[in-house]
Amino acid sequence: MDLFEYQARDIFEKHGVPVLTASVATTVDEAEKAATTIGGKVVVKAQVKVGGRGKAGGVKLAENPQDAREKAGAILGMDIKGHTVRTVMIAAAAPIESEYYLAILLDRSNRTFLVMASVSGGMDIEEVAHTAPEKLAKIPVSAVDGISLAKAKEIVAAAQFPADVADQVVDVLLKLWDVFQGEDATLVEVNPLVKTNDGKVIALDGKVTLDDNADFRQPDHEALVDQAAENPLEAVAKEKGLNYVKLEGQVGIIGNGAGLVMSTLDVVAYAGEKYGGVRPANFLDIGGGASAQIMADGLSIILGDKDVKSVFVNVFGGITACDAVANGIVQALELLGPKATKPIVVRLDGNNVVEGRAILAKAAHPLVEQADTMDGAANRAAELAAK
Ligand code: GDP
Ligand code: MN
Repeated sequence: MDLFEYQARDIFEKHGVPVLTASVATTVDEAEKAATTIGGKVVVKAQVKVGGRGKAGGVKLAENPQDAREKAGAILGMDIKGHTVRTVMIAAAAPIESEYYLAILLDRSNRTFLVMASVSGGMDIEEVAHTAPEKLAKIPVSAVDGISLAKAKEIVAAAQFPADVADQVVDVLLKLWDVFQGEDATLVEVNPLVKTNDGKVIALDGKVTLDDNADFRQPDHEALVDQAAENPLEAVAKEKGLNYVKLEGQVGIIGNGAGLVMSTLDVVAYAGEKYGGVRPANFLDIGGGASAQIMADGLSIILGDKDVKSVFVNVFGGITACDAVANGIVQALELLGPKATKPIVVRLDGNNVVEGRAILAKAAHPLVEQADTMDGAANRAAELAAK
């Protein structure tokens, strides 16, 4: 999950990274009030999860509260690279002398953490990396050792930070490591890290990506989710503990096992080409133990997707045998009653497949059709969706 700048700023503050006083506003009234409370010059900053806000006109200096109100009025509602600005952050303005760059990230291809540091910070670090790569120090950090004081000093020296700020940057780096490790982040980026006119080093902009795989041990992170941006179907699925991803298509997919579901998406997309480009509507893996309740939850989410025209249930009986899955489907349809409205093609294979198919045949639900093969089922589901 990517965080908004103001959320990153709050996490920085919690871990002792130097930041400026700030608060968020969603209206011009709130913006003016926030600027009054902060006092003096402020910066009004668009809160969107995309870089380059400065260049897009989403970061503006304001001389006083009235000016902050006007700047907020101009920025709220603005579209930045397809993101509508609903919130601005009002922050105390810093008199900047120099702009630096610092980031800690997960370097997947090299299976390590990586620190990137540069004294040429500011708007466009990609530009620096491209035109003057020698100005961007890249130092691997072992996950076991982390960033010690010695390592932090090594990094600051390699990036050639000036002597008068070196100690402060070392301290910021140690605290950013604390953020990175303590919050289970995969990216912590500060651009710019600035030196102010009076020689203080401050994180002026923050970008943080949290590792969702660590949510189980980070209960505080749930509150950071941007509810307005969540897909409503995905939100319901998450609540029910289902592994669901909404896609742009017409054939609802349910399967057991991520690999099987992934290949089901491919087969449906392929079969759909014959029917004018019918495509899978979602990814949904109901996992190994597909109880009737899980099947009902899955079906109800898929049937709740207005784009879905047909459903393909693709199950390979393993630990949970086909007869148990078939019973699950029958009971799920009973649970759903009149809410089940779209044709459902079921392909069962694996353990107890004969018993499973017999159960579905006996139930003879008017919406359910069986298919013997995965390709046959995909073809039929695509055909039904195209009707
Ligand atoms: P980004 O463009 O989305 O990365 O947004 P930033 O928060 O990094 O802001 C872009 C630029 O605006 C910075 O590089 C600074 O030059 C400038 N800026 C941001 N905050 C302040 C501030 O408090 N004072 C001054 N003078 N400039 C600022
Ligand atoms: Mn920035």
